[in-house]
Amino acid sequence: MHYIVITGGVISGLGKGTITSSLSYLLKNSGFRVTNIKIDPYLNYDAGTMNPYQHGEVFVLNDGGEVDLDLGNYERFLDTDLTSDNNITTGKIYKEVIEKERRGDYLGSTVQIIPHITNEIKNRIKKAAKGYDIALIEVGGTVGDIESMPFLEALRQMKGDKDNDIIFGHVTLIPESGGEQKTKPTQHSVKELRSIGIQPDILFCRSGKKLNEEARKKISLFTDVSENGIVSVYNVNNVYMVPELMEKQNILGYVRDLFNFDDHTLDYTFKNFVENIKNPKETVTVAIVGKYIDMEDAYISHKEAFSHITGNTGIAVNIKWVNSDNLVKSVEDLKDVDGILIPGGFGYRGVEGKIIAGKYARENKIPYLGICLGFQVSVIEIARNVLNLEKANSTEFDENTGYPVIALLPEQEKIKDLGGTMRLGSKKVLIKKDTLAYKIYNKDTIYERHRHRFEVNPEYINRFEKSGVIFSGTDDEKLRMEILELRDNDNYIATQYHAEFTSRPLNPSKVHLYFIKKSLEYKRGKIYERSIE
Ligand code: GLN
Repeated sequence: MHYIVITGGVISGLGKGTITSSLSYLLKNSGFRVTNIKIDPYLNYDAGTMNPYQHGEVFVLNDGGEVDLDLGNYERFLDTDLTSDNNITTGKIYKEVIEKERRGDYLGSTVQIIPHITNEIKNRIKKAAKGYDIALIEVGGTVGDIESMPFLEALRQMKGDKDNDIIFGHVTLIPESGGEQKTKPTQHSVKELRSIGIQPDILFCRSGKKLNEEARKKISLFTDVSENGIVSVYNVNNVYMVPELMEKQNILGYVRDLFNFDDHTLDYTFKNFVENIKNPKETVTVAIVGKYIDMEDAYISHKEAFSHITGNTGIAVNIKWVNSDNLVKSVEDLKDVDGILIPGGFGYRGVEGKIIAGKYARENKIPYLGICLGFQVSVIEIARNVLNLEKANSTEFDENTGYPVIALLPEQEKIKDLGGTMRLGSKKVLIKKDTLAYKIYNKDTIYERHRHRFEVNPEYINRFEKSGVIFSGTDDEKLRMEILELRDNDNYIATQYHAEFTSRPLNPSKVHLYFIKKSLEYKRGKIYERSIE
């Protein structure tokens, strides 16, 4: 088994996930069977309970795993579906070890970090890597963090294991001061890594501009990493440009040499895609209305879905981040946009502003895409403003509302006290013939990922349908509404599922694509109207 471990140094947020994904892409497209493992050293069992403000979006896998957003990057670059086993956290490791101890599996021995925790880590890594040629393991956090120590120790031990061929890549920062690229932080970070027994084979040097030869030589001298193993990952506009940037420095050849692999030819499937991203033909501006707008990573899968659309169509998407709270005072922020997207969310804060955005989009026929909470916002907004159900709401936000148009289903109410009411992961969606949704998907069955608790209240469905709403997608029991559209407005669509999670570079989310095409039409219409005024 071949492993490539990617650690990070100096500071967090250097783009380790993008670097890991890009290298995975290059190896997969050279014919290897590649998988990715993300190690998150925090104590949480998974990302499900984490606030997007701290770690960005909670990504959802087919199996319902709520995981770090890097797994989304891997899925997009590898064009594959991963499982919860691909995300290892301290919480998962300790839970397992303590359960084993309670069962008596350790036969009375003292349970310790080394070997019990480290063995559990190694077992999990081996299990996730099984069936592949190469597993790339990204270690979250930065080297030196207390939390990551047991993981780095386990990985160090794996180097001595004769069944494994393991190489280490380290991502560092090259700051610039007085026009000079500074190598000292990299030297220190590698020293830190060496002090725990790991000598890196590759250094990924993050900098604004390309690394100059002098800095490269100096880094090589101080760290014992060959000059060929020093990859300059300078800033580019879009993550999908990174594989090409790394391959221009012959990263594949270098990795092949380290592993003694034969030559392989790269099938660079991103060529036209990246051309379109570099030279878009058109631009639309769409608003993403949310409460976490200072943390763009909270909505990363939507951003990526838009990149996929640009790569396939040449339509660039300029995102205007709109704070939903501002809309309560004025809709000014929405005046100049060509489309409005309301993404998922939990909790009441920001919801009233989203309802205003939904109304504004519907009344002015501005292209609209509602996702998950955005879908529920549509239902609430239409209930209030079309069905005239005053203060209609979701019971998530107002338990005593007179018109609970979004609520728990009776069967959920029964199990509410037991906790597990969240609907997670890939589920079947049935699409009605002769609807906009059918036109968009051209299929009667799709599978999409979910992460929600509340549903359209079945008692109100008839009233909605009489007022011009079409629920064009349902679950296979026809109990849960999945897609909402309007009879007289084909600029408007909302889905209970998270279409953004399954968007892939060469196969973008169909509803996002439709939304952007409509936004372009809308923009052209505005330009035309202005020209004849
Ligand atoms: N809060 C809503 C629910 O739980 C929507 C969830 C979401 O947008 N992901 O149903």
